[in-house]
Amino acid sequence: MNLILFGAPGAGKGTQSSLLIERMGMTQISTGDLFRAAIKNKTDLGRKAQEFMDRGELVPDLIVIGMVEEVLNKSVKDFILDGFPRTVAQAEALDELLKKMNLSIGKAVFLEVPMSELMDRLTGRRVCRSCGAVYHVKSKPPKKDGICDLCGGEVYQRQDDKAEVIETRLKNYEEFTSPLKAFYKKAGKYVEVDGNRSTEDVFSDIRQIIA
Ligand code: AMP
Repeated sequence: MNLILFGAPGAGKGTQSSLLIERMGMTQISTGDLFRAAIKNKTDLGRKAQEFMDRGELVPDLIVIGMVEEVLNKSVKDFILDGFPRTVAQAEALDELLKKMNLSIGKAVFLEVPMSELMDRLTGRRVCRSCGAVYHVKSKPPKKDGICDLCGGEVYQRQDDKAEVIETRLKNYEEFTSPLKAFYKKAGKYVEVDGNRSTEDVFSDIRQIIA
């Protein structure tokens, strides 16, 4: 089944996607990761996206949709869309793309996490620059400070996880992304999961949804 995972920044989309890849053999399409890779590789796309990302703003719809279309054209199946769509315009464009490609989304899973918890997760989040593994300064620090347990890469704080940028991201989430709940309810695909629990408990709910 193809799945959309959505929720506020810090809701756990990336963490749950990693488990779905590892345990269910699914494929992740994370627009945030794709942009970060483009920035690292200094491509045109990366240059265009970076200014928006650094400010905590959304990258314009046309750029994001074009990028997703390219990935979907590579005939992926059992995919998780992580961080896309983030606006109703993107959701409508996705419907069009999928129709054209004879593909469909089974469920749009919303990870519900209270605001106070999101702030704590985002300000404490650290990620590996090489493999993308996610850590937290309090709840899941790497064994050696600044070094990834999995690949030895550098563990750093994303520019957009700094306190001043987080506020903008959460505001944009409320304004542009939360209307997707109504969009997917209307489409009969909406499922809500309480994301304010252990990673394993959240995963177990998601696994049941896709079973
Ligand atoms: P993420 O890793 O999903 O938190 O995304 C990091 C940043 O990439 C976001 O704050 C946006 O600036 C940009 N981004 C990722 N996905 C999208 C999207 N679907 N639409 C617009 N901007 C996006």
